[in-house]
Amino acid sequence: MSKFLKFECDLENFIAALKSLLAKNSSSVEELLAQESKSYSSFVKPMQIMEERLEHFFTPLSHLNAVNNSEATQAVYSESLPIITEYSTKLSQNIEIYKVYKTILESEQESLNYEQLRVLELNIKHFEQSGAHLDDATKKRLEEINIRLSELSNNFSQNLLNATNEFEYLITDEADIEGLPESEIASAKQEDAEGNISYKFTLQMPSYIAYMTYGKNAEIREILYKAYTTRAPENGAIIEEILALKDEMSKLLGYKNYVAYSLSSKMAEDEQSVLSFLQNLLKNSKTQAQKELEELQAIAPQALRSFDTAFYAEVLKKEQYEIDEEEYRPYFEQRSVLNGMFTFLERLFGIRFVKAEEQLWDAKAFAYDVYLEDKLRARVLFDLEARESKRGGAWMHNWQSHHRDAAGEEQLASAFVVCNFPPSSETSPSLLRHDDVVTLFHEMGHTIHHILSTVDENEVSGVNGVEWDAVEFPSQFLENFAYEPEVLKMFASHHQTGETLPDSMIEKLVKSKNFLSAMGMLRQLEFSLFDMQVHNGVYTQEEVQTILDKIREDSSLVQTPSYNKFQNGFAHIFAGGYAAGYYSYKWAEVLSADAFYAVIDEGVFDSKTAKRYLKIVLNGGGAKSMSRLFKELMGREPNTDQLLRLNGIK
Ligand SMILES: [Zn+2]
Repeated sequence: MSKFLKFECDLENFIAALKSLLAKNSSSVEELLAQESKSYSSFVKPMQIMEERLEHFFTPLSHLNAVNNSEATQAVYSESLPIITEYSTKLSQNIEIYKVYKTILESEQESLNYEQLRVLELNIKHFEQSGAHLDDATKKRLEEINIRLSELSNNFSQNLLNATNEFEYLITDEADIEGLPESEIASAKQEDAEGNISYKFTLQMPSYIAYMTYGKNAEIREILYKAYTTRAPENGAIIEEILALKDEMSKLLGYKNYVAYSLSSKMAEDEQSVLSFLQNLLKNSKTQAQKELEELQAIAPQALRSFDTAFYAEVLKKEQYEIDEEEYRPYFEQRSVLNGMFTFLERLFGIRFVKAEEQLWDAKAFAYDVYLEDKLRARVLFDLEARESKRGGAWMHNWQSHHRDAAGEEQLASAFVVCNFPPSSETSPSLLRHDDVVTLFHEMGHTIHHILSTVDENEVSGVNGVEWDAVEFPSQFLENFAYEPEVLKMFASHHQTGETLPDSMIEKLVKSKNFLSAMGMLRQLEFSLFDMQVHNGVYTQEEVQTILDKIREDSSLVQTPSYNKFQNGFAHIFAGGYAAGYYSYKWAEVLSADAFYAVIDEGVFDSKTAKRYLKIVLNGGGAKSMSRLFKELMGREPNTDQLLRLNGIK
């Protein structure tokens, strides 16, 4: 029998089957709780396996809804969501389960292995972070806070959206649109009833970015910039309320402030370690950022202002760094890239990809089995080409997780890799941009992190249980190799002439990647520092502004106009999931750059660090904290210098 699930999704009977599975699960929970004596093996293990089975059943539907979207998948998917939510909410509020976990953790502390301990610890933390274990009055207040917070974040986005949509600027003088790409001009162009032509620019993407990047007229750029950075002033009051409520919530849950609450489930230890991490990057990027700014300044007729930088950056890029994607495409034929990546992974880690004959959801989708030392380890299901029914973007979606079942039988992992590469046809191959190659490596980095895990407990196997600020480490690690000449030359050859991608073209890729990288770094650090500092207490609107101004003294090389209220549009942290977590982007990049250069410096295919990376990080999954795994891998704490090196910052 196959070790892997067969891909199938019976839309017609899905809801009925889901309901019956959940009903069965719910009664299993009752039975498990009713047992007289409960242990890890008689309680935690079956609970975990139950969740794994649910993933097995549900994942094909969410996958299908994303890659073969239709009215039918949408209908079934949206009908299933509230059913699943109701089930998981009930589970996460079942305080009896929490109590059993606590008892088992205490009584079996000595006999359980670290994987099992981590399963218990994560589950217990999950309960405690929701406050399910607290008294009724506190729970009630937490619930009120949560409801209000979700209203506030919704209002924040809505205000921003309204302000974005309200504004438009009409250009009537053709001279003002000179230099914009044809496609942007075409989408801006409009004609009124009298046949007058004008060009409409708005604060929506990509219209706003287009004028800021290509628009010659600085006065118009300033008008747009001012409109953009003064959107939704009413969000200032919302920020005040959000900060107060988040602080209250964190204290009710037993944390010093919201930063402490957020970091308690992340890899980063505490506020101070994140702040000094960010400050250190800032200090080391500043000199180069200054030089980059001087380079920009040299081509500008007057002192650069906030609304000039994107424009002159584009001018400079065109002159010196721009790469023509069309020139590169013939070297990146999809199948050669994929096979080349397989060969690279085989040489780096000893894993082998063997085509598997499987009927999948689309004729273009295909499966590979993955072997390590001739032992079958996992399956990957690829769906790489764009089509109308597929959601945009690229992602890895885990399906089965490696574990041992209740009988001690080993179960293997599987995952989907989805991209939106140009479709191939019988007469023309799918030719990729270099960015696409990077994307494929990135998603493959997530994939091998999931499927090569040797952990026996599914809830902490592969990407399960990995801290939020560390999940991008394995993907970025692998992605970095897509810029390495030695790796690129394994597959980048012209699909017609067979010529290998020349060194000069590879060099250009790296240069263009690092174009104005220190200035970009400063900007990201400004956002991250602001996010950390604004979430460590309760602040008024004026205080929020003071915090931001203070950070900018250090991070902003061009004076920001005082009307700029960037914070009122920072939806990532005030309306999304990044509160006290925006630093994660840079955090994971540091880990990945550090491990990457250890491999490069040892010689890619002779690298001992690469072998250890397989054993420690990939096999280790989420069963240990990433900070422990990283220390085991490198024998030390992460070193930010390697990220600077990766960005070409000296
Ligand atoms: Zn990713």
